[in-house]
Amino acid sequence: MTNGIKSLGVLLLLCIAVNAQDEAQRLLQLYKELHAAPELSQQEEKTAARMAQEFRALGYSITEKIGGHGVLALLENGPGPVLWIRADMDALPVTEETGVAWASKVRAASSAGPESGVMHACGHDMHMTVAVGTAAKLVASKAHWSGTLMFLLQPAEEIGVGAKAMLADGLLKRAPKPDTILAQHVDAAVATGQVSVTPGPIFACVDSVDVVVRGVGGHGAYPHRARDPVVLAAQMVLAFQTLVSRENSPLDPAVVTVGSIHGGTKHNVIGEEVKMQLTVRCYDERVRKQLLGGIKRIAEHTARAAGMPEDRLPTVHVHESESLGALVNTPEYAAHATKVLAAALPGGAASVLCRAPEMGAEDFALFGQAVASARLLMFRLGTIPPARVAAAEQGGPPLPSIHSPRYAPDPAPSIATGVTAMYALALDALGKR
Ligand SMILES: [Zn+2]
Ligand SMILES: [Zn+2]
Repeated sequence: MTNGIKSLGVLLLLCIAVNAQDEAQRLLQLYKELHAAPELSQQEEKTAARMAQEFRALGYSITEKIGGHGVLALLENGPGPVLWIRADMDALPVTEETGVAWASKVRAASSAGPESGVMHACGHDMHMTVAVGTAAKLVASKAHWSGTLMFLLQPAEEIGVGAKAMLADGLLKRAPKPDTILAQHVDAAVATGQVSVTPGPIFACVDSVDVVVRGVGGHGAYPHRARDPVVLAAQMVLAFQTLVSRENSPLDPAVVTVGSIHGGTKHNVIGEEVKMQLTVRCYDERVRKQLLGGIKRIAEHTARAAGMPEDRLPTVHVHESESLGALVNTPEYAAHATKVLAAALPGGAASVLCRAPEMGAEDFALFGQAVASARLLMFRLGTIPPARVAAAEQGGPPLPSIHSPRYAPDPAPSIATGVTAMYALALDALGKR
Protein backbone atom coordinates (compact mmCIF):
# COMPACT_ATOMS: atom_id res chain seq x y z
CA MET A 1 0.00 0.00 0.00
CA THR A 2 2.80 2.37 1.01
CA ASN A 3 4.65 1.42 -2.16
CA GLY A 4 1.45 2.06 -4.13
CA ILE A 5 1.14 5.57 -2.67
CA LYS A 6 4.85 6.17 -3.33
CA SER A 7 4.59 5.19 -6.99
CA LEU A 8 1.43 7.31 -7.31
CA GLY A 9 3.42 10.25 -5.93
CA VAL A 10 6.28 9.63 -8.36
CA LEU A 11 3.77 9.39 -11.23
CA LEU A 12 2.19 12.69 -10.16
CA LEU A 13 5.58 14.44 -10.02
CA LEU A 14 6.42 12.98 -13.42
CA CYS A 15 3.13 14.30 -14.84
CA ILE A 16 3.83 17.78 -13.41
CA ALA A 17 7.35 17.73 -14.92
CA VAL A 18 6.02 16.61 -18.32
CA ASN A 19 3.31 19.29 -18.18
CA ALA A 20 5.88 21.96 -17.26
CA GLN A 21 8.02 20.85 -20.18
CA ASP A 22 5.02 20.96 -22.55
CA GLU A 23 4.14 24.45 -21.30
CA ALA A 24 7.76 25.66 -21.76
CA GLN A 25 7.70 24.30 -25.34
CA ARG A 26 4.35 25.97 -26.00
CA LEU A 27 5.60 29.34 -24.72
CA LEU A 28 8.83 29.07 -26.74
CA GLN A 29 6.76 28.38 -29.84
CA LEU A 30 4.51 31.37 -29.07
CA TYR A 31 7.57 33.61 -28.61
CA LYS A 32 9.04 32.53 -31.94
CA GLU A 33 5.72 33.11 -33.73
CA LEU A 34 5.37 36.58 -32.22
CA HIS A 35 9.00 37.38 -33.03
CA ALA A 36 8.59 36.35 -36.68
CA ALA A 37 5.41 38.45 -37.11
CA PRO A 38 6.12 41.88 -35.57
CA GLU A 39 3.81 44.84 -36.13
CA LEU A 40 4.67 48.53 -35.84
CA SER A 41 3.12 50.88 -33.27
CA GLN A 42 -0.63 51.41 -33.86
CA GLN A 43 -0.64 48.52 -36.37
CA GLU A 44 -0.75 45.69 -33.77
CA GLU A 45 -4.01 44.25 -35.09
CA LYS A 46 -2.95 40.61 -35.56
CA THR A 47 -0.78 40.60 -32.42
CA ALA A 48 -3.70 41.91 -30.35
CA ALA A 49 -6.04 39.29 -31.84
CA ARG A 50 -3.50 36.57 -31.02
CA MET A 51 -3.20 37.81 -27.43
CA ALA A 52 -7.00 37.94 -27.06
CA GLN A 53 -7.17 34.36 -28.33
CA GLU A 54 -4.48 33.15 -25.87
CA PHE A 55 -6.09 34.79 -22.84
CA ARG A 56 -9.61 33.75 -23.86
CA ALA A 57 -8.45 30.14 -24.13
CA LEU A 58 -7.17 30.42 -20.54
CA GLY A 59 -10.62 31.55 -19.35
CA TYR A 60 -10.03 35.31 -19.05
CA SER A 61 -12.81 37.80 -20.00
CA ILE A 62 -11.56 39.85 -22.92
CA THR A 63 -12.22 43.46 -23.93
CA GLU A 64 -10.62 44.45 -27.22
CA LYS A 65 -9.81 47.70 -29.04
CA ILE A 66 -9.02 49.83 -25.98
CA GLY A 67 -7.09 52.91 -27.11
CA GLY A 68 -6.45 51.41 -30.54
CA HIS A 69 -5.40 47.76 -30.43
CA GLY A 70 -5.24 47.47 -26.62
CA VAL A 71 -6.64 44.33 -24.98
CA LEU A 72 -7.82 43.82 -21.39
CA ALA A 73 -7.88 40.29 -19.98
CA LEU A 74 -9.73 39.98 -16.67
CA LEU A 75 -9.84 37.10 -14.17
CA GLU A 76 -12.04 37.59 -11.10
CA ASN A 77 -11.26 35.11 -8.34
CA GLY A 78 -13.07 36.23 -5.21
CA PRO A 79 -12.57 39.18 -2.89
CA GLY A 80 -9.14 40.67 -2.38
CA PRO A 81 -6.53 42.96 -3.90
CA VAL A 82 -6.57 44.07 -7.53
CA LEU A 83 -3.46 43.51 -9.63
CA TRP A 84 -2.70 44.89 -13.10
CA ILE A 85 0.07 43.34 -15.20
CA ARG A 86 1.03 45.27 -18.31
CA ALA A 87 2.73 43.89 -21.41
CA ASP A 88 3.38 46.00 -24.51
CA MET A 89 2.90 44.61 -28.02
CA ASP A 90 4.49 46.85 -30.65
CA ALA A 91 7.72 46.38 -32.65
CA LEU A 92 10.20 48.80 -34.24
CA PRO A 93 11.13 49.91 -37.77
CA VAL A 94 14.42 47.97 -37.58
CA THR A 95 15.67 45.44 -40.14
CA GLU A 96 16.67 42.34 -38.20
CA GLU A 97 20.27 41.10 -38.44
CA THR A 98 20.34 38.48 -35.67
CA GLY A 99 20.51 35.48 -38.00
CA VAL A 100 18.27 33.41 -35.67
CA ALA A 101 16.01 30.85 -37.36
CA TRP A 102 12.89 32.74 -36.20
CA ALA A 103 14.12 36.15 -37.41
CA SER A 104 11.55 38.58 -38.80
CA LYS A 105 11.38 39.12 -42.54
CA VAL A 106 8.46 41.52 -42.22
CA ARG A 107 8.55 44.91 -43.92
CA ALA A 108 6.09 47.74 -43.30
CA ALA A 109 5.74 51.51 -43.26
CA SER A 110 4.53 53.55 -40.31
CA SER A 111 2.26 56.55 -40.87
CA ALA A 112 5.28 58.82 -40.23
CA GLY A 113 8.13 57.01 -41.96
CA PRO A 114 9.26 55.10 -45.06
CA GLU A 115 8.97 51.32 -45.48
CA SER A 116 11.59 49.33 -43.60
CA GLY A 117 12.15 46.01 -41.91
CA VAL A 118 10.14 45.45 -38.73
CA MET A 119 11.60 43.75 -35.66
CA HIS A 120 10.79 43.06 -32.03
CA ALA A 121 14.09 44.74 -31.16
CA CYS A 122 12.75 45.93 -27.78
CA GLY A 123 11.65 42.48 -26.62
CA HIS A 124 7.93 43.20 -26.43
CA ASP A 125 7.42 39.68 -27.85
CA MET A 126 9.12 38.40 -24.67
CA HIS A 127 6.86 40.60 -22.50
CA MET A 128 3.75 39.11 -24.16
CA THR A 129 5.03 35.53 -23.90
CA VAL A 130 5.85 35.95 -20.21
CA ALA A 131 2.40 37.50 -19.64
CA VAL A 132 0.71 34.46 -21.23
CA GLY A 133 2.90 32.08 -19.19
CA THR A 134 2.13 33.95 -15.97
CA ALA A 135 -1.58 34.08 -16.81
CA ALA A 136 -1.64 30.30 -17.30
CA LYS A 137 0.12 29.62 -13.97
CA LEU A 138 -2.28 31.93 -12.14
CA VAL A 139 -5.26 30.05 -13.60
CA ALA A 140 -3.72 26.72 -12.59
CA SER A 141 -3.20 27.97 -9.03
CA LYS A 142 -6.58 29.70 -8.59
CA ALA A 143 -7.26 27.70 -5.44
CA HIS A 144 -4.32 29.39 -3.70
CA TRP A 145 -5.09 33.06 -4.26
CA SER A 146 -8.00 35.45 -4.09
CA GLY A 147 -8.55 38.78 -5.78
CA THR A 148 -8.88 40.36 -9.21
CA LEU A 149 -6.26 40.06 -11.89
CA MET A 150 -6.12 42.10 -15.06
CA PHE A 151 -3.59 41.92 -17.87
CA LEU A 152 -3.19 45.07 -19.98
CA LEU A 153 -1.88 44.30 -23.46
CA GLN A 154 -0.75 47.72 -24.55
CA PRO A 155 -0.20 49.04 -28.07
CA ALA A 156 2.10 51.82 -29.30
CA GLU A 157 4.64 52.00 -26.46
CA GLU A 158 7.51 52.84 -28.80
CA ILE A 159 5.90 56.09 -29.92
CA GLY A 160 4.80 56.91 -26.37
CA VAL A 161 1.07 57.12 -27.05
CA GLY A 162 -0.34 53.65 -26.20
CA ALA A 163 -0.78 54.00 -22.42
CA LYS A 164 -2.17 57.50 -22.92
CA ALA A 165 -4.68 56.19 -25.48
CA MET A 166 -5.84 53.35 -23.21
CA LEU A 167 -6.38 55.79 -20.34
CA ALA A 168 -8.20 58.23 -22.65
CA ASP A 169 -10.43 55.35 -23.78
CA GLY A 170 -11.80 54.96 -20.25
CA LEU A 171 -9.41 52.36 -18.86
CA LEU A 172 -10.09 53.49 -15.29
CA LYS A 173 -13.85 53.10 -15.79
CA ARG A 174 -13.56 49.73 -17.51
CA ALA A 175 -11.09 48.21 -15.08
CA PRO A 176 -11.18 47.74 -11.29
CA LYS A 177 -8.83 50.16 -9.52
CA PRO A 178 -5.48 48.43 -8.92
CA ASP A 179 -3.58 48.11 -5.66
CA THR A 180 -0.46 46.97 -7.52
CA ILE A 181 0.72 47.55 -11.10
CA LEU A 182 3.48 45.37 -12.51
CA ALA A 183 5.47 45.20 -15.73
CA GLN A 184 8.81 43.90 -16.82
CA HIS A 185 11.25 44.90 -19.53
CA VAL A 186 13.92 42.84 -21.22
CA ASP A 187 17.50 43.79 -20.43
CA ALA A 188 20.18 43.37 -23.11
CA ALA A 189 23.07 43.71 -20.64
CA VAL A 190 22.08 41.17 -18.00
CA ALA A 191 22.42 37.36 -18.10
CA THR A 192 19.51 34.93 -18.32
CA GLY A 193 18.46 33.67 -14.91
CA GLN A 194 18.87 37.14 -13.45
CA VAL A 195 16.47 40.05 -12.99
CA SER A 196 17.05 43.56 -11.70
CA VAL A 197 15.05 45.93 -9.56
CA THR A 198 15.59 49.69 -9.43
CA PRO A 199 14.08 51.31 -6.35
CA GLY A 200 12.67 54.78 -7.11
CA PRO A 201 13.33 56.46 -10.49
CA ILE A 202 14.13 53.96 -13.25
CA PHE A 203 13.42 55.71 -16.57
CA ALA A 204 13.66 59.41 -17.45
CA CYS A 205 11.11 61.95 -18.59
CA VAL A 206 11.37 62.72 -22.29
CA ASP A 207 10.44 65.54 -24.67
CA SER A 208 10.59 65.57 -28.46
CA VAL A 209 11.55 68.97 -29.85
CA ASP A 210 11.61 70.27 -33.44
CA VAL A 211 13.88 73.19 -34.30
CA VAL A 212 13.51 74.79 -37.72
CA VAL A 213 16.47 77.07 -38.52
CA ARG A 214 15.62 79.59 -41.19
CA GLY A 215 18.15 81.33 -43.43
CA VAL A 216 18.19 83.37 -46.59
CA GLY A 217 18.90 81.16 -49.59
CA GLY A 218 21.31 81.93 -52.40
CA HIS A 219 24.21 80.71 -54.57
CA GLY A 220 26.90 78.66 -52.80
CA ALA A 221 29.56 80.82 -54.47
CA TYR A 222 28.17 84.07 -52.95
CA PRO A 223 27.67 83.32 -49.21
CA HIS A 224 27.91 87.05 -48.39
CA ARG A 225 24.61 87.62 -50.23
CA ALA A 226 22.85 84.85 -48.27
CA ARG A 227 22.37 83.78 -44.65
CA ASP A 228 23.46 80.16 -44.42
CA PRO A 229 21.11 78.05 -42.20
CA VAL A 230 23.50 75.04 -42.34
CA VAL A 231 26.30 76.95 -40.58
CA LEU A 232 23.76 78.34 -38.09
CA ALA A 233 22.39 74.87 -37.37
CA ALA A 234 25.92 73.51 -36.88
CA GLN A 235 26.63 76.22 -34.28
CA MET A 236 23.38 75.40 -32.50
CA VAL A 237 24.07 71.64 -32.38
CA LEU A 238 27.32 72.31 -30.52
CA ALA A 239 25.86 75.04 -28.31
CA PHE A 240 22.98 72.75 -27.26
CA GLN A 241 25.58 70.41 -25.73
CA THR A 242 26.69 73.16 -23.36
CA LEU A 243 23.21 73.11 -21.79
CA VAL A 244 24.15 69.77 -20.23
CA SER A 245 27.90 70.33 -19.73
CA ARG A 246 27.90 73.99 -18.58
CA GLU A 247 24.43 75.02 -17.38
CA ASN A 248 23.12 71.89 -15.69
CA SER A 249 24.40 70.56 -12.37
CA PRO A 250 26.68 67.57 -12.98
CA LEU A 251 24.65 65.79 -10.30
CA ASP A 252 21.38 66.08 -12.26
CA PRO A 253 21.15 63.56 -15.11
CA ALA A 254 20.32 65.22 -18.45
CA VAL A 255 20.63 64.43 -22.16
CA VAL A 256 20.16 66.60 -25.25
CA THR A 257 20.55 64.60 -28.48
CA VAL A 258 20.05 66.02 -31.96
CA GLY A 259 18.83 62.82 -33.58
CA SER A 260 17.96 64.17 -37.01
CA ILE A 261 19.17 67.09 -39.11
CA HIS A 262 18.10 67.83 -42.66
CA GLY A 263 18.70 70.85 -44.90
CA GLY A 264 19.65 71.89 -48.39
CA THR A 265 19.22 70.30 -51.77
CA LYS A 266 22.48 70.64 -53.72
CA HIS A 267 26.24 71.34 -53.45
CA ASN A 268 26.12 74.91 -54.68
CA VAL A 269 22.83 76.12 -53.25
CA ILE A 270 22.49 77.79 -49.86
CA GLY A 271 19.09 76.60 -48.68
CA GLU A 272 16.26 78.40 -46.92
CA GLU A 273 16.01 76.17 -43.85
CA VAL A 274 17.39 73.27 -41.78
CA LYS A 275 15.14 71.01 -39.71
CA MET A 276 16.40 69.35 -36.52
CA GLN A 277 14.71 66.80 -34.26
CA LEU A 278 15.90 66.56 -30.66
CA THR A 279 15.24 64.24 -27.75
CA VAL A 280 15.57 65.89 -24.34
CA ARG A 281 15.74 63.74 -21.20
CA CYS A 282 16.09 64.29 -17.46
CA TYR A 283 14.47 63.30 -14.15
CA ASP A 284 13.43 66.63 -12.74
CA GLU A 285 10.80 69.18 -13.82
CA ARG A 286 13.14 72.06 -12.94
CA VAL A 287 15.91 70.62 -15.15
CA ARG A 288 13.35 69.95 -17.90
CA LYS A 289 12.25 73.61 -17.95
CA GLN A 290 15.88 74.76 -17.96
CA LEU A 291 16.80 72.51 -20.92
CA LEU A 292 13.73 73.38 -23.01
CA GLY A 293 14.13 77.10 -22.27
CA GLY A 294 17.84 76.88 -23.08
CA ILE A 295 17.20 75.29 -26.48
CA LYS A 296 14.87 78.14 -27.44
CA ARG A 297 17.27 80.79 -26.11
CA ILE A 298 20.32 79.35 -27.93
CA ALA A 299 18.41 78.87 -31.18
CA GLU A 300 17.04 82.42 -31.23
CA HIS A 301 20.17 84.22 -30.09
CA THR A 302 22.53 82.26 -32.36
CA ALA A 303 20.34 83.39 -35.25
CA ARG A 304 20.34 87.00 -34.01
CA ALA A 305 24.14 86.90 -33.65
CA ALA A 306 24.32 85.86 -37.31
CA GLY A 307 22.23 88.88 -38.25
CA MET A 308 18.94 87.12 -38.93
CA PRO A 309 15.98 89.50 -38.83
CA GLU A 310 13.37 89.00 -36.09
CA ASP A 311 10.83 87.58 -38.54
CA ARG A 312 13.29 84.86 -39.68
CA LEU A 313 14.32 83.57 -36.24
CA PRO A 314 14.21 79.77 -35.72
CA THR A 315 10.99 78.13 -34.55
CA VAL A 316 11.16 75.74 -31.59
CA HIS A 317 8.25 73.34 -31.08
CA VAL A 318 7.89 70.93 -28.14
CA HIS A 319 5.55 68.04 -28.99
CA GLU A 320 3.58 68.21 -25.74
CA SER A 321 1.40 65.22 -26.73
CA GLU A 322 4.53 63.03 -26.90
CA SER A 323 6.03 64.24 -23.60
CA LEU A 324 6.39 61.51 -20.97
CA GLY A 325 7.00 61.83 -17.25
CA ALA A 326 9.70 59.86 -15.44
CA LEU A 327 8.95 56.27 -14.41
CA VAL A 328 9.37 55.89 -10.66
CA ASN A 329 9.14 52.49 -8.98
CA THR A 330 7.52 52.68 -5.53
CA PRO A 331 10.69 52.47 -3.37
CA GLU A 332 9.35 50.44 -0.40
CA TYR A 333 7.55 48.05 -2.72
CA ALA A 334 10.72 47.63 -4.83
CA ALA A 335 12.59 46.61 -1.66
CA HIS A 336 9.86 44.09 -0.81
CA ALA A 337 9.75 42.76 -4.40
CA THR A 338 13.53 42.19 -4.29
CA LYS A 339 13.01 39.76 -1.38
CA VAL A 340 10.08 38.02 -3.10
CA LEU A 341 12.14 37.55 -6.28
CA ALA A 342 15.19 36.31 -4.37
CA ALA A 343 13.03 33.67 -2.67
CA ALA A 344 11.41 32.58 -5.96
CA LEU A 345 14.34 32.39 -8.39
CA PRO A 346 16.55 29.28 -8.43
CA GLY A 347 19.70 31.43 -8.10
CA GLY A 348 18.39 33.12 -4.92
CA ALA A 349 19.52 36.60 -3.89
CA ALA A 350 22.44 36.48 -6.36
CA SER A 351 19.92 36.51 -9.24
CA VAL A 352 18.31 39.80 -8.20
CA LEU A 353 20.51 42.74 -9.15
CA CYS A 354 19.99 46.35 -8.16
CA ARG A 355 20.40 48.39 -11.37
CA ALA A 356 20.93 52.13 -11.62
CA PRO A 357 18.31 54.28 -13.39
CA GLU A 358 18.72 54.97 -17.12
CA MET A 359 17.82 57.76 -19.54
CA GLY A 360 15.42 55.61 -21.56
CA ALA A 361 11.71 56.38 -21.24
CA GLU A 362 8.59 54.25 -20.72
CA ASP A 363 4.93 55.17 -20.97
CA PHE A 364 4.19 52.56 -18.27
CA ALA A 365 4.78 55.59 -16.01
CA LEU A 366 1.34 56.91 -17.00
CA PHE A 367 -0.54 54.04 -15.34
CA GLY A 368 1.19 54.90 -12.08
CA GLN A 369 0.37 58.58 -12.47
CA ALA A 370 -3.29 57.71 -13.24
CA VAL A 371 -3.65 55.63 -10.03
CA ALA A 372 -1.35 57.40 -7.59
CA SER A 373 -2.46 55.16 -4.68
CA ALA A 374 -1.18 52.00 -6.40
CA ARG A 375 2.23 50.42 -5.85
CA LEU A 376 4.10 50.35 -9.15
CA LEU A 377 7.06 48.28 -10.27
CA MET A 378 8.81 47.58 -13.54
CA PHE A 379 11.60 45.06 -13.12
CA ARG A 380 14.11 44.08 -15.78
CA LEU A 381 14.68 40.60 -17.14
CA GLY A 382 18.13 39.33 -18.16
CA THR A 383 18.07 37.80 -21.64
CA ILE A 384 21.70 37.22 -22.67
CA PRO A 385 23.65 33.93 -22.30
CA PRO A 386 25.83 34.32 -19.16
CA ALA A 387 29.04 33.48 -21.06
CA ARG A 388 28.44 36.37 -23.48
CA VAL A 389 27.82 38.83 -20.65
CA ALA A 390 31.00 37.66 -18.90
CA ALA A 391 33.01 37.97 -22.14
CA ALA A 392 31.70 41.52 -22.76
CA GLU A 393 32.59 42.53 -19.19
CA GLN A 394 36.15 41.29 -19.80
CA GLY A 395 36.58 43.43 -22.92
CA GLY A 396 35.19 40.89 -25.41
CA PRO A 397 32.59 41.62 -28.11
CA PRO A 398 30.21 44.34 -26.88
CA LEU A 399 26.57 43.37 -26.34
CA PRO A 400 24.05 44.91 -28.76
CA SER A 401 21.60 47.14 -26.87
CA ILE A 402 17.83 46.90 -27.14
CA HIS A 403 16.61 48.52 -30.39
CA SER A 404 19.71 47.10 -32.13
CA PRO A 405 19.11 44.93 -35.24
CA ARG A 406 21.51 42.43 -33.60
CA TYR A 407 19.77 42.14 -30.21
CA ALA A 408 18.99 38.42 -29.87
CA PRO A 409 17.62 37.30 -26.50
CA ASP A 410 18.08 33.65 -25.53
CA PRO A 411 14.37 32.83 -25.43
CA ALA A 412 13.89 29.62 -23.41
CA PRO A 413 15.76 30.60 -20.21
CA SER A 414 14.50 34.22 -20.47
CA ILE A 415 10.87 33.05 -20.63
CA ALA A 416 11.41 30.62 -17.73
CA THR A 417 12.89 33.32 -15.47
CA GLY A 418 10.36 35.93 -16.59
CA VAL A 419 7.40 33.68 -15.75
CA THR A 420 8.87 32.56 -12.41
CA ALA A 421 9.55 36.18 -11.43
CA MET A 422 6.21 37.64 -12.55
CA TYR A 423 4.23 34.73 -11.07
CA ALA A 424 5.97 35.13 -7.69
CA LEU A 425 5.25 38.89 -7.61
CA ALA A 426 1.64 38.31 -8.70
CA LEU A 427 0.97 35.68 -6.01
CA ASP A 428 2.53 38.00 -3.43
CA ALA A 429 0.37 40.94 -4.56
CA LEU A 430 -2.90 38.97 -4.59
CA GLY A 431 -4.74 37.72 -1.48
CA LYS A 432 -4.04 34.31 0.03
CA ARG A 433 -6.67 31.59 0.44
ZN1 LIG B 1 11.83 50.27 -27.03
ZN1 LIG C 1 10.39 48.43 -24.82
